[in-house]
Amino acid sequence: MSTAILDAKKIQAQKLEIKTLIPADPKTVYQLRGKRLAELAQESGLTDYFNLLKLLVNAQERVAAETGLQEENCFGLKPKFNLEQAQPMAQANFEWGNYWQSILLELVSDLLPKLSVTGSSELSEVLKELVGVKPQTLQDYAEAMLLGHFAKVPAKYTLFIWAALSVYWSHWATDLASEIAKSAESHKTLCPVCGSHPIASVIKDQPRAGLRYLHCSLCETQWHQIRAECTSCGEDKGVFLWAESETKSAIRIESCDTCKGYTKMLFTNIKPELEVAVDDLATLLMDQHVVEQGYQATTVNPLLLAHEQ
Ligand SMILES: [Zn+2]
Ligand SMILES: [Zn+2]
Repeated sequence: MSTAILDAKKIQAQKLEIKTLIPADPKTVYQLRGKRLAELAQESGLTDYFNLLKLLVNAQERVAAETGLQEENCFGLKPKFNLEQAQPMAQANFEWGNYWQSILLELVSDLLPKLSVTGSSELSEVLKELVGVKPQTLQDYAEAMLLGHFAKVPAKYTLFIWAALSVYWSHWATDLASEIAKSAESHKTLCPVCGSHPIASVIKDQPRAGLRYLHCSLCETQWHQIRAECTSCGEDKGVFLWAESETKSAIRIESCDTCKGYTKMLFTNIKPELEVAVDDLATLLMDQHVVEQGYQATTVNPLLLAHEQ
């Protein structure tokens, strides 16, 4: 008898444990991302690119870990957020200023000496050029990218600008996500903190088996969304899963016949080492298959900013 009562209480407690939002933890995200890039560099077939990304993510990790005086130099004072507003960190909803440009400088000065060792002189030139771009022009580029107009920015700069913006956004998103977690509703297509697109779905076994979270491409927040509903339009009919093998595939694609969108799903409960941005990038061949069937990605990968929305 008493065991049954205890179990019922336990189930109740478990239900309460579903978090609508998991705040960003930038330092850990960059650490895991860097590690995964190193692991997959060889087998990806894109070794040079993965190695560059690893240097960039390592630089992001270093800046994200800064505290004290140095932190103030990079991130400035905490911006004012209106928590009454949906997506308080969407670019139109707060003064984001130009501190992200100090972060960009930090990233570039971290990268340049490392690139001169590996002999990527072409890339070094691009980075030197990028830090010489007028502050106002950089600001315009940032705004265009935050609005999803990636094609308005020279393609050679987008990876680095987004990397800097992401360090800035995830820094402030951490507190903000905790504050708005209580009121955030489920079933959101875009990040409830900053309004950006997700990278992909991540399936977890904690705190409950098979929970799905979408991972933000800008501020690294994760938000809960129920399974078997399209992450883009919310429709529950005509949603299909694609996998390279029949059972236990750790990476699958969910397509929707209503909006013709697709999202990748990473089952970290099957393969814990999966990292959302890196493993999405490493499995682009899977995307090609569903794109050929007429579906379009509803996601953005910060390590590959070739999307135009
Ligand atoms: Zn976000
Ligand atoms: Zn849909």
